[in-house]
Amino acid sequence: MPESYIDTYYRRTLVDHPAHPTLSGSQQVDVCIIGGGLAGLSTAVECLQRGLKVAVLEQHRIAWGASGRNGGFVTGGYATGHGQIARRAGEAGAKALHDLSVEGVRIVRENIDRLDLPRVNPTPGVMRAIRYDDAAGLQAEVAEAKRKFGTTLHYLSRAEVQEKLKSDAYFQGIYAPDAFHFHPLNYALGLGAEIVKRGSLIFEQSAATGIARKAGGFTVTTATGSIEAEHVVLCGGGYTDRLAPALHRAYLPIATYMLLTEPIARIEAAINTSSAIADDRRAGDYYRVVDGNRILWGGCITTATRDPANLAEIMRRRIVETYPQLQDLKVAAAWSGLMSYARHLMPQIGRTADGLWYATGFGGHGMNTTAIAGRVVAEAIANESDRIKLFAPFGLDWNGGPFGRIAVQATYWYLQAMDAWRERGSRRPHA
Ligand SMILES: Cc1cc2nc3c(=O)[nH]c(=O)nc-3n(C[C@H](O)[C@H](O)[C@H](O)COP(=O)(O)OP(=O)(O)OC[C@H]3O[C@@H](n4cnc5c(N)ncnc54)[C@H](O)[C@@H]3O)c2cc1C
Repeated sequence: MPESYIDTYYRRTLVDHPAHPTLSGSQQVDVCIIGGGLAGLSTAVECLQRGLKVAVLEQHRIAWGASGRNGGFVTGGYATGHGQIARRAGEAGAKALHDLSVEGVRIVRENIDRLDLPRVNPTPGVMRAIRYDDAAGLQAEVAEAKRKFGTTLHYLSRAEVQEKLKSDAYFQGIYAPDAFHFHPLNYALGLGAEIVKRGSLIFEQSAATGIARKAGGFTVTTATGSIEAEHVVLCGGGYTDRLAPALHRAYLPIATYMLLTEPIARIEAAINTSSAIADDRRAGDYYRVVDGNRILWGGCITTATRDPANLAEIMRRRIVETYPQLQDLKVAAAWSGLMSYARHLMPQIGRTADGLWYATGFGGHGMNTTAIAGRVVAEAIANESDRIKLFAPFGLDWNGGPFGRIAVQATYWYLQAMDAWRERGSRRPHA
């Protein structure tokens, strides 16, 4: 009996999809990928496009983790800013990484079209609206993006923001026309279908439990079978276990929450745009209208990986704080997911001293970055390019153990307090 996906908006709007078999017996492939999220599936697609035979091992269902339950925003960039990236990678390295991040957006968009993926619903536009008054700051950011990266962004005045978002919480905004939002679970299932159609293998409910070196490659074992492969790629995201200790001690699982509302009559009296919306708080809100009358709302970040009993109420309150006119909204579903964060906040993409490839640490910015990880890992395996080296400055730094977790949570609280302080300094537009 195949395991079911957790209850999310995405499970309620799934395309027809087959369950993939559990691994039994022994298989031989060129590349064995451990973890069937978008990092693993993207790597598989890129590898098979280069003539390699692949097997994906997923302990639950493909895209059961963060990839199948996220906000669905596909935007350029990373989970940290250009300045932080340049500090380790230098200006030229940071610029090349930025270009790669934009290539990631393009890869996802092209896959949707090229593979004609059903019910992925790519919808253009992501809008960032700020909760403090800073017209000059945003205008400067738009100009800087053009000058530095050639990126077109549109500045939105307070009146333009409020025409779309009927909330006193917001001031100015920035609209990114090249970003989009989509149905990440249907996208992942579409990639899965392509992988099988092209003769590669996916095994669900097949947790990898051991990796052993052998002449010319590795043997990966599960409870019911094994895979012989020349290459192994580790793509466990926020669910990475102790299979590869070097990875396990180099990341922190960070939880974030989402809520789906029941249909809302006259939703345009609150949110009057088909763009996705985010603010720029450290643990900010990100949301969009789905099916024309429901809100899919994400927010909160915490190192506590167990769901609070009142998760739905926490999220409902966040919506009503921003849109008091929605105080009667009904919750259809609420859920959480785990992201994988490195201390440097950048993806971890490379190869361990033991010869294992890894692609993880995408944080809250995985929709474009998993696509580029898949591409640069496949290019490296196929000896096609060494673009993977762009990520070398962001290695497997130790996560700090239990003290790392405490330090990160303290940092979140500090940054959230700074957000509140910054917002208090701005007069509400209609207060
Ligand atoms: C609620 C939420 C909202 C988000 N919103 C956005 C957004 O709007 N835009 C954006 O860009 N990013 C967003 N993110 C981040 C994004 O979802 C992740 O960065 C991305 O999906 C990570 O992909 P992944 O493949 O590395 O991890 P996952 O999708 O978590 O996949 C890892 C998989 O590995 C499997 N696995 C682990 N160990 C083993 C093993 N030993 N054997 C077999 N399988 C194993 C797990 O079961 C899991 O399915 C969000 C994340 C969350 C949780």
